[in-house]
Order: sequence, then structure tokens, then C-alpha cells
Amino acid sequence: MSKWNLVINVGRCENCHNCVIANRDEHVGNDFPGYAAPAAAVGDSPIRILRRAQGSAPMVDTTYLPVMCNHCDDAPCMKYAGDAIRKRDDGIVIIDPEKARGRKDILGSCPYRAIVWNEEQHVPQTWIFDAHLLDQGWQRPRCQQSCPTEVFEAVKLDDATMEKKASSEGLKVLKPDLSTKPRVWYRNLDKWETCFVGGSVSAEIAGVVDCIEGAQVTLSQAGKVLGSTVTDGFGDFRFDKLVGDGGTYRVDVSHAHGNVGRDCVLSESVYLGELRLTRPGAANSRGGADA
Ligand code: SF4
Ligand code: SF4
Repeated sequence: MSKWNLVINVGRCENCHNCVIANRDEHVGNDFPGYAAPAAAVGDSPIRILRRAQGSAPMVDTTYLPVMCNHCDDAPCMKYAGDAIRKRDDGIVIIDPEKARGRKDILGSCPYRAIVWNEEQHVPQTWIFDAHLLDQGWQRPRCQQSCPTEVFEAVKLDDATMEKKASSEGLKVLKPDLSTKPRVWYRNLDKWETCFVGGSVSAEIAGVVDCIEGAQVTLSQAGKVLGSTVTDGFGDFRFDKLVGDGGTYRVDVSHAHGNVGRDCVLSESVYLGELRLTRPGAANSRGGADA
């Protein structure tokens, strides 16, 4: 049987909040009996855009992550709330607006913080995948319709086909260790979960400091080379998709104008700044020898 899934393309979100506003436009003040009570005009939104800024100037990455109810197949909220929350045959999880009335305690049952409290109606609420619209034949929820950068892709597939799609396209879910079996999938989640280390290579040539293009850069850990690259026209290099587990990494740069190396501890992305090439045995112009 076909069920709804939502694929979110992480690298495309520009933080415009159109999806948040469209969802509020759909639900604030509008009653959809059996689906959701009118959302409150004031209060938390069931769709949130998280932000992660990494690195430091001039090598900075900002990534935005839309989060909402994952419509989990093994949902902790359902286990907690009894018949106040149900899963439809098409995979969508619905908090019953009547049975859940007054149940603020339900908020704490979701490990994704996807349930918000509606103070006006005294009900817990989530993003309902716009099930009331899908049941009228719509193929896309409001968030998808309103997103200018095509972050969202609602797909209705049987579970085996969805698993194959996820595997072949590298889709991931949030907090997979919880085994909640989310139906919201993320493309390019490594942009949110991994780190980079980068730097800018320079050399002093005839009394002038210039950036160095084409320098060979290697990244290693405990003596094992993990990758290599060359600097671009601005002398910049960067290694992506690294695990920020507090490990120590080593960057070594070599070029006809000299060598330089740095150690760094990676628990978040690191911009190493300027790495000045020096010839073996020569002191650099800043008065010291590089490591
Ligand atoms: S994300 Fe939270 S609210 Fe949504 S189904 Fe999963 S546990 Fe329930
Ligand atoms: S509408 Fe699209 S680009 Fe804008 S915040 Fe939402 S997901 Fe991001």
C-alpha cells in the first residue's frame, strides 16, 4: 500500500520561512474537524527552521534544516498518548483534536520536539502533512507549494519502494538511533551533521605576500592519509564531510615555495586561517617556524 513520505533537500533551504507562514495561513483560525483544531495565532510553529553556522570568516557555511513531525511508524508519542494519537493507513500521524484536549503532557513524548501547545484551544498539535488537503486530492502539502527553492518533495510510495529510493539516493532520517522509523527523509543531511576543515595558503615571494594556487594539501589522522586536494586561485582549500568527534587531524601543505603544516581538533568546523609556506630551515616573516 502506498503511504506518504516527505523528502527534504537540506542544501536548498534559504530560511525564507515561506513554508512556516503557509502552514500558519492554512491552520491559524481554521478548524478541520477530525484533523486539527484551529491553530493559535500566537505560539510555536509546528514547522521550524533550524540554523547551523560553521567555520569563521572568510570560510563560513550556514545551513538551514526544516524540522516538523516525522510521522514516525514507531512513534513514541503514540505509545505514550494512547488513542489520543493515531496513525492513518497512509502513514500520517494525527493527534485527535478532541481526545487530546487538555493533554499538555503529550508534548514531552516526542523526541523531535515536533509537538507544540495550542494555548487558545488547549490542545497539542503537530504538522499534519496537510492530510485534510491530501484527502481532497491535493498531491503536495502547503509547505511544498510555497517553497521557492523546492526543498520539499512529498512522495506516496509503498514502504519497500521508499526504502529503495532512500538507499539509492542517500536519504537519511533524524535520530536514526531511536528507531522511530520517520517518514520524513533528508537529502544532503551531511551538510547538517558533518564538519569541514579549511585554510588559505600563502607565501612571501620577493617581499610580497601572495596566495598560492596549486599547492598540494593532505589531510591525515594518526598518520593515515584521509584525503588530498590542491588550493584554488585564492589559495583556499577545504576538506568536507568530516566527523566532528573531537579527533585530532593534521593538515600538510607542500609547494615549490615551501611547506607548512597544522594540527587541529575537530569538534566543529575549523577554518585554519592563513598558512604561510616556508622553505625548510627558514624562519617565516612572522618570526617563527611553522609546526
Ligand atoms: S515526530 Fe514526534 S510527534 Fe511526530 S510521529 Fe514522531 S514522535 Fe510523534
Ligand atoms: S520555504 Fe523552503 S527555502 Fe523557505 S524556509 Fe521553508 S524550506 Fe527553507
